[in-house]
Amino acid sequence: MFEAEREELVEILKQRGITNQRVLDAFIKVERHLFLPEIMQQHAYKDVALPIGLGQTISQPYTVAFMTQALDPQPQNRILEIGTGSGYQAAIIYEMGVRVFTIERHLELYNSAMKIFDKLNLKIATRCGDGTIGWEEFSPYDGIIVTAGAPIVPTNLKKQLAVGGKLVIPIGDKKIQTLNILTKISEEKFITREVPYFAFVPLIGKEGWNGK
Ligand code: SAM
Repeated sequence: MFEAEREELVEILKQRGITNQRVLDAFIKVERHLFLPEIMQQHAYKDVALPIGLGQTISQPYTVAFMTQALDPQPQNRILEIGTGSGYQAAIIYEMGVRVFTIERHLELYNSAMKIFDKLNLKIATRCGDGTIGWEEFSPYDGIIVTAGAPIVPTNLKKQLAVGGKLVIPIGDKKIQTLNILTKISEEKFITREVPYFAFVPLIGKEGWNGK
């Protein structure tokens, strides 16, 4: 279903500068409409963020593609995602041959993402809780992606990243953020590339914003 719409979406992503063929292939493979409430499914292949309930969103496809390209996960890498939401971003990374670990703080979203992963037979490790403290048990990760806007880079996430790995995280205020792409070059040192003007829902937690 919606094959032509997915092809069109991939053309838009290419025009906007997404060049990584493995990322583009994952966008062809993963059916975004399955990660949305039925009433929203007709809009699934527009390049826009959409509501998924509880005031949360499935990110805009371009943003998902841009962050995935920046993360550049390789087959068999272990990647931690903070902010499972609908599960779509996790599924995109999983389809690139990656071992995915994902954390969501809202129980309802966690449950519905788990159901979709089961239905599609995606072997993604899920956890419900505060992702700002990471998931130490399976660390270090080859990459970490945070899909909610943070006030700072959580120290636990920096610690749980392997040397050589990338941490992709939007940093800013509650409305507008700059995407920070950190590369860990030694246990203590990171280099950071910044890309402005992203808009995510807030990262709520111990090393995030206060909130419900
Ligand atoms: N990656 C998601 C997708 O593909 O649908 C988009 C996520 S949405 C923009 C951000 C998500 O982060 C929300 O579902 C929100 O509940 C979650 N979130 C916010 N703070 C969090 C935290 N500290 N730990 C885990 N999840 C968090």
